[in-house]
Amino acid sequence: MITHARTERIALRHAAPAPRLVRLRELQGHDELAVDGVDTRTAVQLLGRLLDADEAADLSASDRDAALAALHRALWGDRIVATLRCAACEAMFDLSFELSALQRQLGQAGEAGRVSAPREVEDAQGVHWHLPSADEEDAAAQFGLEAGRARLLAQVCADVPADAQAVSARLEALAPLLDVDLDAECTECGHAQRVRFDVQSFVLQRLLDERDSVLGEVHALASGYGWSLQEILSLPRSLRRSQVQRLTAAASAFR
Ligand SMILES: [Zn+2]
Repeated sequence: MITHARTERIALRHAAPAPRLVRLRELQGHDELAVDGVDTRTAVQLLGRLLDADEAADLSASDRDAALAALHRALWGDRIVATLRCAACEAMFDLSFELSALQRQLGQAGEAGRVSAPREVEDAQGVHWHLPSADEEDAAAQFGLEAGRARLLAQVCADVPADAQAVSARLEALAPLLDVDLDAECTECGHAQRVRFDVQSFVLQRLLDERDSVLGEVHALASGYGWSLQEILSLPRSLRRSQVQRLTAAASAFR
C-alpha cells in the first residue's frame, strides 16, 4: 500500500536558543489505539511517536501543549467546542473559542525570555529559569503533592527565594500552558462561571472518545478489502477514513 501522510509544522520555543521547527506526522491507528489515558505520560508517549524531534520527554510543558494544540488543529480544526454543565441550573451549554486566539492571548500577556539551552530561559531581569521536563515533573511527583512541588520549585529557579505563587506566575509568563480558567456564561440561565480548559486532557479525551469509531473503521476495512490489522493500523488516519467512506458509498450504491 502506498501511503502519503500529512504533516504539520510546529515551532518549539524551549528546545533550543532559536525556535525550532519540527514536524508532527499524521496519526495512524496504532497511535490512536495506544492512547489509554489523559495524563502527561500518555501525552509524552503520543508526541514521541508523532514528532520528528528530540525525546518528547525532554520538551517543556509549554512546548508539549503547543504540539497538542497543533495536533488538535490537524485533526479537528482550530475551534474548540466544549459542552459544559451549568453550576447553577445544571443545563448543558456549549463553550466555544479558537485555540490559536487563546495561544495569541497567552503569548501577548507573557514574556518571551531568552532561551540559552534546552528548557533554560533567562528573563528581562537576567533571572535564570529552568523549565522542568516531563521526567523531572514525574520524579518530583514521587515525593507527594506538597514536597514534590517544593522540589520542583527549587529546581526551577536558584536565583530568587522560592515563593511558590511568585514562581508559578513567572513560569506562566515565560512558558504559558494551555491550561487556563475561562469565563463562560450559561446560555439557559445566564450564570457566569469559570471553567477549566486544559489542552492535554481535552485532546487525549477526544482521542479516547473516538476509540470505538477507529475500531469500527478497522472492522469495515478488514471485512471489505481483506487487509490485515497491521496494514490498516499503519494507514494515515485521513486515508483510512476516506477508504471507509468509499466502502460505505459503494455498499449503499448496491442497496
Ligand atoms: Zn445555567
